[in-house]
Amino acid sequence: MSDIRVLDPHVADLIAAGEVVERPASVAKELMENAIDAGASTVTVEIARGGLTFLRVADDGCGIPAGQLKTAFLRHATSKLRTEHDLEAIGTLGFRGEALAAIAAVSRVEVLTRTAGAPLGASLSLEGGVAGAVEEAGCPQGTTMVVRDLFFNTPARLKFMKKDAAEGAAVFATVQRVALSHPEVSVKFIRDGRQELLTPGDGQLQSAVYAVLGRELALGFRPVRSTGEEMSVTGFASLPACCRGSRNWQFFFVNGRQVKSKLMAAALEEAYQNQKMVGKFPACVLHLETRLSAVDVNVHPAKTEVKFGNERQVFSAVYYAVKSALEGDRSHPSATLAPQPAVRPQGAPAQAEAPAAVRATPQPPRRAPVVSAPGVLHVHDNTYQPPRQSPPPPQWRVSAPSPVRPEARPAPRTPESPRPAPAVEEAAPQEPAPRAVRQEPEEPAPLLPQEPDWRLAGEVLHTYIIVEQGDTIFFIDKHAAHERMNFDRMKAEGYDPMAQTLLTPAVCRLSAPEQAALLAHRALLEEFGFEVDELGQDLAVRQAPFDVEVEDIPSTLEEIAQKLLTSGSADPAAARDELLHTMACKAAIKGGWRTSPQELEQVARAVMSGQVKYCPHGRPVAIQLTRKELEKQFKRT
Ligand code: ADP
Ligand code: MG
Repeated sequence: MSDIRVLDPHVADLIAAGEVVERPASVAKELMENAIDAGASTVTVEIARGGLTFLRVADDGCGIPAGQLKTAFLRHATSKLRTEHDLEAIGTLGFRGEALAAIAAVSRVEVLTRTAGAPLGASLSLEGGVAGAVEEAGCPQGTTMVVRDLFFNTPARLKFMKKDAAEGAAVFATVQRVALSHPEVSVKFIRDGRQELLTPGDGQLQSAVYAVLGRELALGFRPVRSTGEEMSVTGFASLPACCRGSRNWQFFFVNGRQVKSKLMAAALEEAYQNQKMVGKFPACVLHLETRLSAVDVNVHPAKTEVKFGNERQVFSAVYYAVKSALEGDRSHPSATLAPQPAVRPQGAPAQAEAPAAVRATPQPPRRAPVVSAPGVLHVHDNTYQPPRQSPPPPQWRVSAPSPVRPEARPAPRTPESPRPAPAVEEAAPQEPAPRAVRQEPEEPAPLLPQEPDWRLAGEVLHTYIIVEQGDTIFFIDKHAAHERMNFDRMKAEGYDPMAQTLLTPAVCRLSAPEQAALLAHRALLEEFGFEVDELGQDLAVRQAPFDVEVEDIPSTLEEIAQKLLTSGSADPAAARDELLHTMACKAAIKGGWRTSPQELEQVARAVMSGQVKYCPHGRPVAIQLTRKELEKQFKRT
């Protein structure tokens, strides 16, 4: 080995730059953060060739005084920190004084800037970190940075860049996150001469969400708002039926800073327990605000990870905020009769961050024979799935859920009405933390039983219950709703396994892993009324719950085994939930069956009271159709 020597400052700079400037997206992020720290109300990002040859960030912020322009590009030069104590409560996005130096070290930079008071602005060019002279220049107030030929002097790094499209997509994703993090700033993105994003900058998160994530996703969002003494959580979270195929649509911000947080993601997902489909992930845009000193933002080179002083509190704050937003929601997906153009997410998050699978959702099912005549019902919705029992071809256009109906109020609870869903605490984290957030506004509970304001109009196709309430007609999937009622009841009261001993044991042949999974959970199966024994390669079932038809025993056990294998086997609580799901389904009235009017009424009551919204797999239990929609079809309006 050769001697140990301190690196030449130029080499040291290039190495340091590698930590901050990984790709064009990181340049965009740092420059946009500087713009926001400078108090800008508009920020424009423009790129060509994925941002590698050209990347411009222009703002109307406070500008940099000509006399300090060169200093800004020195390492550890910052106007945002003075002493070590300032590190304890960082209120700006930047604080290390590294970004400009790092970017300039590996590119050709031109700056044009003017402060509010100055009659003239200043310009400066740098190449590979070497600055030219500061010159006077006429320009509007604010700062424009142009970064060309990124990594021109570090070919090793250049080699690792992806195709222009992928780098450009990553820049776009960064711009989108900045736009969502600061709705008071109007953010514009131009790629190869085309404007791809413009947020209004009106301070409303909703406007930013609409502009960034598009109408389709925004319609599936419900507002989240809870304020506690220590922290507040606001923003939007998707309805269970509008969950996505990946976590790419989860956006978390802490004090205005975009963060990746496994903790917050876990709290979010916990709030959807037993509401969403397996393999689906909630989407969200959630802002957590707390004391600056309660978060350490100085733990990650790109500042995208933070450390919370009190993780438990953060978990509860997010969990309860989302949970109560979902519980407060009484809406059902709405059905409309007229053919509508397919909704396309505008400016869906860029490819690099959001793979095609999550953006390509809005195509109507091809096989649905859609006849474009008045009065013919059309379907399209990526989240709604037809019932499992040999469904009729989907003929409803189910659009995303509509806003909360103000007229919906809780129906009285009568002895035969199902128990309300288990309390929030049921699904809470192992050791429920003290409630850190106060919900607002609280809906007062009705004191006296009220007459229901809806009427059961009938049942069609032995599957859908029709209910009328005011000007709205509801179609309830009786199986899905009943399954949910069973699930909630079983979860609250435990499953009572009315079991039958079989005269001759049912013999099931399952795959070896399936058989092993079931045998490993034999005690749990017994709780649910199944007694199984190993019989060589087979499984002998000596006892099974009444809810399962004898001929269905093998397929039911196979289903349970599959669930245990894919999700539930390691975690006992999850395993129990999986069995509850299966048994809730088996015990439910089925589509296609004849059901007594009393039972239909009971199901309708549970749905109309708002207690039952999604089947345990996240499918909606009801859709709604308005008088207006009908009248449109009959040309009455
Ligand atoms: P940091 O943001 O951590 O302070 P930077 O290297 O990103 O470090 O920027 C150095 C300094 O340059 C900042 O502290 C700020 O004073 C100034 N600066 C950078 N960009 C801008 C801008 N767009 N508008 C005004 N001042 C800026
Ligand atoms: Mg900075």
